[in-house]
Amino acid sequence: MKGLWEWLTGATCPGCGRLLNEPLLCPACRALLAPRHLPRLVYLGSYRDLGRLPKALKYRGHRALAVYLGQQLALGVQQAGWRLVGVTAVPTLPHRQVMRGYNPAEVLAQSAAQALRLPYRQTLARVGWGRSQTQKTRQERLELPEGTFRPTGRVEGAWLLVDDVVTTGTTFQRARKALLQAGASQVYGAAIAVKSPNTLPWSSL
Ligand SMILES: [Zn+2]
Repeated sequence: MKGLWEWLTGATCPGCGRLLNEPLLCPACRALLAPRHLPRLVYLGSYRDLGRLPKALKYRGHRALAVYLGQQLALGVQQAGWRLVGVTAVPTLPHRQVMRGYNPAEVLAQSAAQALRLPYRQTLARVGWGRSQTQKTRQERLELPEGTFRPTGRVEGAWLLVDDVVTTGTTFQRARKALLQAGASQVYGAAIAVKSPNTLPWSSL
């Protein structure tokens, strides 16, 4: 009788909006999720296919989904064979975390860390009180100031940096740079969805 509750209560799949008859995601959406690789970046699919998932994760009720997606990212990291010392997340703006009560990227990162048997650590703080990324124009996102992130301490070795979505790649680039400046020998990335995998400036980082 798996999924009967969801069926009875009319829960819908956070991936596609169809009626859900099993936990977390419908089989069609599960089938879309597969670790994909760019140089130094693992992700689970295009924003066109998976764009609803990061939106769903903004709500605390979908924590179990974030844990599941974090495990999928861990699988991609294992496939890539990166030698990591720890996992960290791109921090959200403080007031957004207070409003929502949690940072989805952090839950993804903690889940991936657990699956990889690596420590999770908050290594970066976000400074500034800019508008939400989704409310900005592409140009404004590109102009994200250099000093957006600052390390909370020194780090060593190779780290995995997790975020929910990679749009222009600017946020990731800034956070990655801050980690390298804090002493990381290498910084790999992981995200659920990438907006334009083919034009991402990731390989030039
Ligand atoms: Zn679905």
